[in-house]
Amino acid sequence: MRIDIITVLPELLESPFNHSIVKRAREKGLVEINIINLRDFTTDKYKTVDDYAFGGGAGMVMMIEPVYKVIEKLKSERVYDEIIYTSPDGEKFSQKMANQLSLMTNIIILAGHYKGVDQRIREYLVTKEISIGDYVLSGGELPAAAITDAIVRLIPGAISDEQSALSDSFQDDLLAPPVYTRPADFKGWKVPAVLLSGHAANIDRWRHEQSEERTRRLRPDLAGEDGEKR
Ligand code: SAH
Repeated sequence: MRIDIITVLPELLESPFNHSIVKRAREKGLVEINIINLRDFTTDKYKTVDDYAFGGGAGMVMMIEPVYKVIEKLKSERVYDEIIYTSPDGEKFSQKMANQLSLMTNIIILAGHYKGVDQRIREYLVTKEISIGDYVLSGGELPAAAITDAIVRLIPGAISDEQSALSDSFQDDLLAPPVYTRPADFKGWKVPAVLLSGHAANIDRWRHEQSEERTRRLRPDLAGEDGEKR
């Protein structure tokens, strides 16, 4: 899989992909992540990527021309499954969406800045718009990093024990059960006995019950009418 991220702040994206699971996935060749500096596609000496909004009002708007150029160049090199724009008014990002995106071969993520991008970019160049939640960030870099991380850990081989990704929260509309590690007794705060029993079937049952109970209590919107998973 290949993920191209277009940004005016490439420095912001240096660290997130150089640690942990994403780093290992890159090293294993499971994913190629390219950070593209939009300013490299400008023609003036000030490397301008934004301009005043037509009609007035505070805040600058990202111009269409450099974005068009970079997307055209990328599209001339390979076929893209999705060209994503991160936007607070986009479709709410979810595990389901991460699953779908993890099956793709090539995607572009355009990180917005300032007041956002010229609407014609969204209308004519972008194929999908994603929000990571109902709050406004200064730029699309953190959303792009969050989306990329969620996708990459789902690529087969990215996590050594593949079960581990499958048992994460939301993967089957259930929250994950609680987890514990040593010591079994910390200042009298004990780990549930069943986890120490060595009885695999009982442990599985306990985990499933915990998942269902936590989902019903914390996220009833995920659970069906009878409180069981949909
Ligand atoms: N004026 C815009 C917000 C601009 S914030 C509005 O009210 O909708 C600047 C950029 O940050 C956006 O273009 C977008 O790319 C990114 N961004 C901010 N919050 C986001 C969120 N919740 N999800 C995804 N991207 C977001």
